[in-house]
Amino acid sequence: MKDLAIYPGTFDPLTLGHVDIIKRAARLFGRIIIAISAKPRKTTLFTAPERLAMAKSLCAQIPKVEADVFDGLLVDYIRAKGAHVIIRGLRAFSDFEYEFQMALTNRQMAPDIETLFMMTKESYSFLNSSMVREVAALGGDTAKFVPDFVQKELNKKTGIRSQKSGVRIQN
Ligand code: ADP
Repeated sequence: MKDLAIYPGTFDPLTLGHVDIIKRAARLFGRIIIAISAKPRKTTLFTAPERLAMAKSLCAQIPKVEADVFDGLLVDYIRAKGAHVIIRGLRAFSDFEYEFQMALTNRQMAPDIETLFMMTKESYSFLNSSMVREVAALGGDTAKFVPDFVQKELNKKTGIRSQKSGVRIQN
């Protein structure tokens, strides 16, 4: 299926940087699946079902976008879906080495699958999920970093009510 692209990641949680990549990818492909890694290398704040539920809230807002959880090798999942394209986002030079190694490893295993890199939107180039988790845990306002439905879940997790003041990082 040539017009299907898979956007894999941990999404712990989904940020506005991810959303921007998804919206732009949706202009290039007929169908996008946000593929949530069930057991990533890192420990997560949100469980896989929780990360999936947040991604599904986004899917309800953007046509052509679906969300799913996968376990095991990404290339196996992509083949099972009949897809040939992996979307990844690039923020800074520091992303490059890991992404390069992963793309080449995946290519060794599955030469028919292509990894497509999309540059971050400038205003989200600093944004990553771990920073968002940290701001939330310290009681900061995450409204500028994540969709509102994610902010609600973050506040529940960290036991912090939605607030107007707090840490704010300017774009
Ligand atoms: P992973 O653990 O697989 O890196 P992440 O959820 O951290 O999962 O990221 C998924 C993908 O989204 C990665 O390709 C990452 O580079 C990209 N990404 C994360 N944050 C941003 C952002 N702010 N702008 C663009 N791409 C991003």
